[in-house]
Parts: sequence; C-alpha cells; structure tokens
Amino acid sequence: MTSRVFRFAPSPNGFLHLGHAYSALLNFTLSRASGGRFLLRIEDIDRGRARAEFETAIYEDLAWLGLAWETPVRRQSEHFEDYARALEGLDAMGLLYACDCKRSDIARVAAAHPDWPRDPDGAPLYPGTCREKPRRSARDILARGGVALRLDMQRAAALAGEGLSWREWREGDDFAITACDPAQWGDVVLARKDTPASYHVAVVVDDALQGVTDVVRGHDLFFATSLHRLLQRLLDLPEPRYRHHDLVLDDTGEKLAKSRGSETLRALRAAGARAEGVRRRLGF
Ligand code: GLU
Repeated sequence: MTSRVFRFAPSPNGFLHLGHAYSALLNFTLSRASGGRFLLRIEDIDRGRARAEFETAIYEDLAWLGLAWETPVRRQSEHFEDYARALEGLDAMGLLYACDCKRSDIARVAAAHPDWPRDPDGAPLYPGTCREKPRRSARDILARGGVALRLDMQRAAALAGEGLSWREWREGDDFAITACDPAQWGDVVLARKDTPASYHVAVVVDDALQGVTDVVRGHDLFFATSLHRLLQRLLDLPEPRYRHHDLVLDDTGEKLAKSRGSETLRALRAAGARAEGVRRRLGF
C-alpha cells in the first residue's frame, strides 16, 4: 500500500494563530499515526499580500511547536507555469472567458435585486455580463492584462457530468459521501492579472502534483471543496480524501483570524507560553 500524504498549506500573509497550529498539528499527528508523509506548502500566490517575514515566521513557529516536514517546501510563487497549464486545459475545453467587470459593477446589479444569489462566502454571484463576449485564449488575455478569467460554471458542470461528490472523512475509517454543488459559486474567477491563478486552481494542481491523499483543513473551506472536485474532474486529477475540522474559536466564540489580530503563536511565545502547553490546550 502506498503511504498516505498529508499537507499543511498556510498563506504567508500574517502570523500563524492557534487555528493554524491546530490544523498543522492534526495533519502532522494523522500522518505519523498512519505511517504517512507530512508536507508543508507555502501558498504565496497572492503576491500583493504574501511577505517574506511571514514565511520565515511559519517555519519558526511550526518548528517551535515540534513539527517536522519534508524539504524542499513547495512555494506556489515558483510554479506559476503549472497553474497556467491547468488554465490552458480549461480554456481548451471552452470553459474560460475574460471579464473586465469591477466588483462595484457586480455589487450594483446585486443591490438592485433583493434576492440576488450569493456564494457560500457571502459574495454576490456574477451576473454573467461578459460571458457571451467573443473569447480569446487564456494566455493572451492574461498577458494583455486588466481583466480576470472566469469559469463558465454552467458549461463546466455540464461537462463534468452527474454524480460529483467527495469522501468526507469522519472518525476512524468512517467516510460520508458528500454531494458537490459547485454551481453555488457561480462563474468564479480563476485568474487575475495581479494573481495569475486563483487559490482554487493552485490548490488542486498542487495537491495532485504532490500526491496528496488526504486534505485535512478547516471547516471554512468545506464549501470550496465542491469547486475543487469540479476542477479535479475537469483536469483529470486524482481525488483525495477530505476532512474539514472544526475551527478553533476565541473566548467570545468568534473564529480566529489573522485580520482580527487573534492570538498569534509569536505573541503566545513572547508571553512565555511553552509549546507543550499550546499542544495540550489544542488537544494534542
Ligand atoms: N492556504 C489556505 C489558507 O491558508 C489553506 C488552503 C487549504 O488547506 O486547502 O487558508
């Protein structure tokens, strides 16, 4: 039997907090328990937000927690060609189109209709304004800049066919087959001039290239899995198992977030916390 491959894939756009520590420790523990591998991947595809000091801090904080990972670490910013190839594949199937709508254009359409549908993150679905404009190749569109590439969801779902699902891993060896509903995302953006591949494209390409068998991540990405399964099927990539764990909440019951300055591992360490205490607090 080939060994199972787990990964922790943080974005270096802030310091790690307890929620990241939980996710990293869970992946590490499961990989060790199954005699499998543990990878660390730096998801620095958003070049406007990624910073070298946060990446350095990720290595320091995870080592402090007692984790060890395989090297070299894959950094997404070094692999844009891999994502471009995946986009070209989708483009060759006639599934991408250029869109130059501004967020405010979309918000205006949505505001005019009280029941306008929203994606699982709460953003209004794209009204399809640019969908039927003449198409150009994905590379050509990105090279000229100024526009985004969107997935024609209706066509994509039709091409992918019926019965798209994933195996959501619960305790032990218990799996729940979860039906996908990628249409809830509408015509998602898969690339922009400043970020030549979206998180969704990069994550499925990387999980496949790195042979990841088990995607263990926070419940905030549960709904995105429908979209990831759609892209995997279209791009003929293998299907990993998924496990979406509960999020670590702060004292007020709110989700921890970099943007809200939630307790970072750095701050805990500076205040004298010991790694062992953090691990115990998180149940490891
Ligand atoms: N880079 C993502 C994040 O930091 C995680 C992606 C994933 O685990 O699939 O939220």
